[in-house]
Amino acid sequence: MEGKLLVISGLSAAGKGTIAKELVNRFDNFVLSVSATTREKRGNEVDGKDYFFISKEKFDEMIDKNEFLEYAKYVNNYYGTPKKYVEDKIREGKNVILEIEMQGALQVKKIYEKAVLVFFLPKDAKTQRERLINRKRETIEQIEERISQAVVDAEYAIHYDYVLVNENLEDSIKDMQEIVEDKYDKTKNKTALNILEKIVKDIKGE
Ligand code: 5GP
Repeated sequence: MEGKLLVISGLSAAGKGTIAKELVNRFDNFVLSVSATTREKRGNEVDGKDYFFISKEKFDEMIDKNEFLEYAKYVNNYYGTPKKYVEDKIREGKNVILEIEMQGALQVKKIYEKAVLVFFLPKDAKTQRERLINRKRETIEQIEERISQAVVDAEYAIHYDYVLVNENLEDSIKDMQEIVEDKYDKTKNKTALNILEKIVKDIKGE
């Protein structure tokens, strides 16, 4: 049986990266697609594991050769999903996770209608801010930028098949398993969208 293509996006610091990594570590039937990017490698990132770090020339060459399933420009850098790995793994029966931003996610859904789109939220605006500060990856300016970006990003949530609040890792892992097995109760999306509305209001200071 073919595996599923799971596209995970969400607000910055919603914890989606951790969820994706845990699914892959715990279960043999989940694999993570490694994207190509033109952005600079950060401190402890590993080429070929976190990303394939490539030049803009090489990126353009891959576009020309139709080697991307989707690609997008995000904050001055290009990011793309190499097609071959995804197709091979799905054929092998693996569930392939793409952790990508929203424009890319919607492109994937257009090309591959069976793709399952999941949008993750932190439980509230305070938690998002705390996580961004605690992970010490961004400067204060970048943190503020990511928080305001959340207002824009939130607009995309309604296009996703599932909207999940990441209250804690274990529940989110269980939710993802239910989604893959088509057992997740979709009516819970509505509650999540209400929480998203509250987060946006808090960010805007309303
Ligand atoms: P970062 O630079 O923080 O690693 O990633 C920035 C954004 O690019 C994140 O939202 C991440 O999910 C997204 N991203 C990573 N890889 C891809 C990709 O292959 N395609 C698209 N469209 N977005 C990606």
